[in-house]
Amino acid sequence: MNRSADVAVVGAGIVGLAHAYMALRKGYKVVLFERDEWAVGASIRNFGLVWPVGQEPGTGFTYALRSRQHWTELAAAAGFWINPSGSLHLAYHADEEAVLQEFLELYKYSDYQVSWFSGEQAVEKSGVINPDGLRGALWSATECTVNPRQAIRKIPEYLAEKFGLITRWGHVVKGIALPVIETASEQWQVQKVFVCSGADFETLYPDHFKRQDLTKCKLQMMKAVPRQPVVLGPALCAGLTLRHYAAFAGCPSLKLLDARYDQQSSFWKENGIHVLLSQNDQGELIIGDSHHYARTHDPFLSEAVDQRILAYLNSFVKLDFQVTERWHGVYPKMAGHLSFVQEVEEDVVIVNALGGAGMTLSFGLAEENLERF
Ligand SMILES: Cc1cc2nc3c(=O)[nH]c(=O)nc-3n(C[C@H](O)[C@H](O)[C@H](O)COP(=O)(O)OP(=O)(O)OC[C@H]3O[C@@H](n4cnc5c(N)ncnc54)[C@H](O)[C@@H]3O)c2cc1C
Repeated sequence: MNRSADVAVVGAGIVGLAHAYMALRKGYKVVLFERDEWAVGASIRNFGLVWPVGQEPGTGFTYALRSRQHWTELAAAAGFWINPSGSLHLAYHADEEAVLQEFLELYKYSDYQVSWFSGEQAVEKSGVINPDGLRGALWSATECTVNPRQAIRKIPEYLAEKFGLITRWGHVVKGIALPVIETASEQWQVQKVFVCSGADFETLYPDHFKRQDLTKCKLQMMKAVPRQPVVLGPALCAGLTLRHYAAFAGCPSLKLLDARYDQQSSFWKENGIHVLLSQNDQGELIIGDSHHYARTHDPFLSEAVDQRILAYLNSFVKLDFQVTERWHGVYPKMAGHLSFVQEVEEDVVIVNALGGAGMTLSFGLAEENLERF
């Protein structure tokens, strides 16, 4: 094997795959290194939601819409499932309705594709919604769902077949001194490297990850099988989600909502709980999540957290299901930033810390990085 390429990518999660895709589209010869036999990090542990509506107008939202376009094209070309499901933010309380109405007013001239739905319209979109006390909902047309377990395996297969991506599975990159990039058993000559190593801060350039503003977030997730077949339609969420995403930060009534939830129970905020529900191509329900921040996390799942997630879910859906899987995922997060992008030496660029929006932002960010570096 001729061990040379124009571009090397470290990590076959969505960030690495997006950078490989953009480099291949530019005609570069690309080699992709992944320490595991297939990627098993954050990118296969998520909801599979491409979620532009959570991004504030500006760079994040622009990346999100670009990503959505790329996801749609790639799914068609590579043959994996994508559902342009849209999303509903459900309002059961006056302050939730107020936040959503303020959001609509604040951004009426933006590119969000949002509108107000009455309770009846919302229930028409998704028959599983609990209609009791429902005041209405924010409908957004831009959200998509993929099955990450399928997509993250299909993308590199397709890139290898269509563009000649070279994949080195089971190869941990342990050193970079350009033009040489080195794994435990191979040396490659390359001109440029994108280091997309996710939650591994320890192997490559550890000093650059020693920053106060960079941390790791652990999330608890569940998969469930409905006892009767259901079609969810849009991805669903409710009031707790409004205090999670930056897009709602400018809504004046958010303070009231925040205070009310805290008064009801401090458990939600202490455990970073907000609840999203998506459905994959198998009809399975993906439920989560919680958010705990630390540099090192214990590997244990809290049953109390799962129970609170399920209780909140059951406040806004009427569904009979059985939980069949539980897991956690970890993603890096940089306070106040969409991502951590740094050229740590000439032609070696770290791309990390896309936080809870890696599926939403990666293709847009990668497109820009291929122009920038
Ligand atoms: C539970 C959960 C739910 C989420 N839900 C959503 C969602 O619905 N929508 C959304 O947009 N985002 C979501 N996110 C965020 C999103 O999943 C992450 O932002 C994204 O997956 C990060 O991708 P990554 O490629 O940086 O990391 P990873 O997917 O972790 O990939 C990094 C890869 O690098 C490899 N690697 C590391 N070091 C080396 C080395 N030295 N040599 C070779 N290989 C190496 C690792 O083995 C790993 O496969 C969620 C995250 C979690 C955890």
